[in-house]
Amino acid sequence: MSAVLSDAARRATNYLAGLSDRPVAPTEAAVRALDRFRTPLPEQGEAGEKIIAELDEIGSPATVASAGGRYFGFVIGAGLPVPLAANWLAGAWNQNVALEVMSPVAARLEHVALDWTAQLLELPAGVRGACVTGDTVANFTALATARLAVLEAAGYNLAQDGMSGSPPITVVVGDEVHVSVLRALSLLGFGRGRLQHVPVDEQGRMRADRLPAIEGPTIVCTQVGNVNTGSFDPVAEIATWAHAAGAWVHVDGAFGLWARAAPRRRALADGVDRADSWALDCHKWLNVPYDSGMVFVRNGAALRAAMGASSAAYLPTKGEGEMMEFTPEMSRRARGVDAWAALRYLGRAGVADLVERSCVLAQRFADRLQQAGFRVLNDVVLNQVMVSFGADEETSRVVSEVQREGTCWCGQTVWHGRTAMRISVSSWATTSEDVDRSVAAMIRVAHRE
Ligand SMILES: *Cc1c(COP(=O)(O)O)cnc(C)c1O
Repeated sequence: MSAVLSDAARRATNYLAGLSDRPVAPTEAAVRALDRFRTPLPEQGEAGEKIIAELDEIGSPATVASAGGRYFGFVIGAGLPVPLAANWLAGAWNQNVALEVMSPVAARLEHVALDWTAQLLELPAGVRGACVTGDTVANFTALATARLAVLEAAGYNLAQDGMSGSPPITVVVGDEVHVSVLRALSLLGFGRGRLQHVPVDEQGRMRADRLPAIEGPTIVCTQVGNVNTGSFDPVAEIATWAHAAGAWVHVDGAFGLWARAAPRRRALADGVDRADSWALDCHKWLNVPYDSGMVFVRNGAALRAAMGASSAAYLPTKGEGEMMEFTPEMSRRARGVDAWAALRYLGRAGVADLVERSCVLAQRFADRLQQAGFRVLNDVVLNQVMVSFGADEETSRVVSEVQREGTCWCGQTVWHGRTAMRISVSSWATTSEDVDRSVAAMIRVAHRE
């Protein structure tokens, strides 16, 4: 047993050490070699050493080097070494965090990680949080709670009487709402055709001067951290308008909420604490291993009412509630341990520095590419940059050739009808040298006709 575990640790360490010298996207040959995994289901079990060796020899080269410093696609964190190590140890514990009796240590560490995060993001005192797989499930959990709470305020008991026959609920979103929120709403029975859309400004922010008249049970979905521009909805103004009508305000803050931990970015998220629920990721900007997100709700009793299973005789419950009463899952891994380790390792200063450094490096991308004659399409306020290399087809060509060239990896998007390269600086490992190497590669590719 100890040989196979040490071997895996050695291979993982070598993998991470080699990341800066390999192409960011895997080679075509490495992807083709994945066919070697297409073997028949073995009749007899095989040796552990052989399985781990094959995983490393075939699998590692076919990974995307997003754990390194030059991956700028989507919004992907790299996984800091200390939370990764904590994840390994917690993996060995293999604790189920559903009930405290199953794992006192997992319950305690998740509580601490949630508390620390609420403090760091300056969420209102007394919020109740829970650890989930990511921001999509955090959105789902928060919006399920919102649905129950706004119906309760209208005198309807959703947990008892269910959706059929419930009063209608108005759901308000911005025109730039993330697809993850739409998915969560759809899982909750809110059809896309029935949402009320608020127009956005040129940076994708909901326009506070275009909020509709609302009455009755209403949920308002705001966003801090637009995936293209990094911009923030004016949550404070939206909350004033929404709360006057008794509406619930939700914040999708997948990566943007972490701006509250960085003094120089904090103003972007002013008033975010006036919302009723918040969804965020730890696997993006906090650089915790996948998968890891958190949900916070001002009214913890509503969260428990929305998620709590009805009791069963063999499942103990306690006063302040068990973890499984606050998330859609019952059994799950103690993913909060990774977040606890990240927060302990970074401290307030380290989180602030990680966020600020990413933003400064995003600005460096924008400046360098502008100096080279290319157009930056957004106000760079956070860690997101969109660049045009000319006509749409030319930008597409540059994006796909940069991906193939291997120095770095960036994705593509469309902004106001124009094709753009999308650069997201979200990795703890990215240095200014990484940015300069990546910019040089982009310019090389752009000048190659
Ligand atoms: C990434 C992201 C999501 C989805 O998060 P997952 O962790 O992939 O579930 C939702 N909203 C925003 C703004 C995001 O950036």
